[in-house]
Amino acid sequence: MNELSVTVRQMFQEKKDIVLSIICGFIGGITAVGLFSASGYLISKAALAPPIYTLMVLVATVKLFGIISALSRYGERYFSHRGTFTMLSHLRVAVYEKIEPQFQQVFRRFRSGDMLARIVGDVETLQNFFLRVFYPPIVLCLVFLMTIFFTTIFSIVHALIIFAGFLLTTVIIPLYFSLRQQKVEENLREKRGDFSTEMTELFFGFRDLKIHDSLDEKEALLENTAARYGKEQEKTGIHQLYRETLNAFISLIISVVVLATGIYMISDGELDGIFLAMLLMISLTVFENTTAMAVLPGHLEDSRIASKRLLEVTESGETVEDDGEILELMEAPTIEMRNVSFRYDKEARNTLENINLVFPKGSKTAIVGPSGSGKSTILYLLLRFEKAQSGEISINGKEITKLNQESIWEHANVVLQENHFFYGTIRDNLRIAREDLTDEEMLHALKKVDLESFQLDDPVLEKGANLSGGEKQRLAISRAMLKNSFIWLLDEPTSSLDSLTGAKIYDELYQLAKEDTL
Ligand code: ADP
Ligand code: MG
Repeated sequence: MNELSVTVRQMFQEKKDIVLSIICGFIGGITAVGLFSASGYLISKAALAPPIYTLMVLVATVKLFGIISALSRYGERYFSHRGTFTMLSHLRVAVYEKIEPQFQQVFRRFRSGDMLARIVGDVETLQNFFLRVFYPPIVLCLVFLMTIFFTTIFSIVHALIIFAGFLLTTVIIPLYFSLRQQKVEENLREKRGDFSTEMTELFFGFRDLKIHDSLDEKEALLENTAARYGKEQEKTGIHQLYRETLNAFISLIISVVVLATGIYMISDGELDGIFLAMLLMISLTVFENTTAMAVLPGHLEDSRIASKRLLEVTESGETVEDDGEILELMEAPTIEMRNVSFRYDKEARNTLENINLVFPKGSKTAIVGPSGSGKSTILYLLLRFEKAQSGEISINGKEITKLNQESIWEHANVVLQENHFFYGTIRDNLRIAREDLTDEEMLHALKKVDLESFQLDDPVLEKGANLSGGEKQRLAISRAMLKNSFIWLLDEPTSSLDSLTGAKIYDELYQLAKEDTL
């Protein structure tokens, strides 16, 4: 159950709601038992035509129990759900905070669809942990113990029968199913992950699949995955139903035993006949609560696996501790790489070997080489997206592994080979360079990259789908220009532009970066 420790920790942040749910659940359960036992007694008593005030007292008791029971049930639902939703939001934040520092590694290990299935679906699943696994057994035990105690006043034998039924339905059977809750649930989550993965691939690759006439194959694959997911769901459903039926069956058997023993004891004169209906009603009502135990093994296993899958994401890579020294720059820095060798995770060969580079303060350097030679990789290392296996990279003599990562990014104007644009407007996309940019500054920057035809309110679609390759590149350059820090890292910034525009933009860049290290 190690997997659940994180979830449990999140859960206990909501102690107040946990306690309130348990209290309300207990009152609701015990008053329901009281309600039905009082009505059983009332029916028997009424048959004997007692004085009317006796009946009035009983009727009032029944009404009172009814109202209290309904209100407490409402309270139980309210507090348990409020607690659960708060727990879920804590959990989402906790997962995100774990993933964020290792975003580079996470997407190398998980496909994006699977990742989404985990963060959305598996977190969602964990809502059942508190609602169906953690507190219902506590409430159930309290209600049962109280009921059994009450029953002993009238008949020890019946108290024992109910106790046996309690052991059977809340302990033995759930335990048995928990132990052999095979791989059903695990398969279900896996299949959901597969389905989500195939779905995102199809969406992302739709155009390429269509062009290459391969859409049908991919669709068939998706349908296949969907069918397997459906099958697993069906299997899980059948298992659950089976457990619930068994539980209901045993509860009924217990009630029959209560009735039969009651009749036997009355004929022997050991029990007053007036209590029989009451005892039967107690047994019928108290076992109604055990349906919760029938679904518990499923939810427990489900939560355990969801928790495990979340842990796989959050614990997959080494978490970069970002408590390094803050990089402070008053002017352009000198950047050095000494004997740097680097190999991508799980790759056989080194991408970079013994690289020695010096970028003096205020210098402009071009790194030229064939495609795949490692130009972009050098940039990733300088930005500390990746970590070199050996060698040293320093800014003004300070090793970057000892520097706070965000403070490095803060001082760098970066244009990567692939730049992301968010759904929104041109203004939104430029503003990520700096929060306090004015419209004039932004328009000015657009002009420098020959994008004066753009309005700041023009829409940008997801991933910049409505922009051409060259437009995207120029927008990224203007974003870097707006940042206006001392380090410039540009990865083939004009590769999608014609040479005239490219030359013009370089002129602008050199103007802006006159004093900077580029
Ligand atoms: P360049 O920018 O010079 O074209 P890159 O630095 O992008 O080259 O890539 C250098 C080499 O590293 C290539 O052989 C490429 O296949 C490999 N590579 C790039 N990114 C990754 C990655 N994320 N995982 C594994 N190998 C990679
Ligand atoms: Mg490259």
